[in-house]
Amino acid sequence: MQSSLRIVWIYPDLLSTYGDQGNVLVLEQRARRRGIPVEVVHVRSSDPVPEQGDIYLIGGGEDRPQILGAERLRRDGGLHRAIQRGASLLAVCAGYQIMGSVFGGEEGQPVPGIGLLDISSGRGERRSVGELAAEVDPSLGLPTLTGFENHMGVTRLGPGVTPLSRTLVGTGNGDGTEGCFAGKIIGTYLHGPALARNPALADLLLRWAAGPLPAIDDSWYERLRNERLGAVLKP
Ligand code: GLN
Repeated sequence: MQSSLRIVWIYPDLLSTYGDQGNVLVLEQRARRRGIPVEVVHVRSSDPVPEQGDIYLIGGGEDRPQILGAERLRRDGGLHRAIQRGASLLAVCAGYQIMGSVFGGEEGQPVPGIGLLDISSGRGERRSVGELAAEVDPSLGLPTLTGFENHMGVTRLGPGVTPLSRTLVGTGNGDGTEGCFAGKIIGTYLHGPALARNPALADLLLRWAAGPLPAIDDSWYERLRNERLGAVLKP
């Protein structure tokens, strides 16, 4: 790793309509609290995606910016090269769907994704909007995730990925699972933003990039998480 941790936020001008910038801020802050120097790079869709980042983030958005973002990422190729170098990636909602082979456009037409994850998405019958809670795959050792979802898409997972979690409340991929992971790539429908609501997920990305991390006081985060969990899991 270079001297500072480089966090790359892909296409804030296209894919950041649901507070996903919070994911960038949380990662940055949690690294700094551990004394890890951080550089945050915002990559607009007119610019090339740098290959030298450690953690890449891409957020959610409306159908048209999603299609534009997928085209530009595919033409650019920088994210593929970064992942080949061993970088981590958190892809949320529209960004998650873009990582697959195909997703549904504004009329439900199939739009090619960029093929970094073995998933394919299409348009579901109704929009999924609301709170989401999901139990994480035991291999990742994370507590129950909470967040907010707002999407029409449903996502089918291929054998090359593992479901990130099983839904307790909400739709997620649409088959009882939520999100997926493969190598150091995580895809999820969780907004909220996901890392503010789930600091353990932020630390997983930081550990993949920077190695073991000292514990920090998370009592504020835990209060928010427990308050949300209590609200959505209430019988
Ligand atoms: N346009 C996509 C869908 O509706 C993604 C939405 C989002 O990013 N929130 O499935």
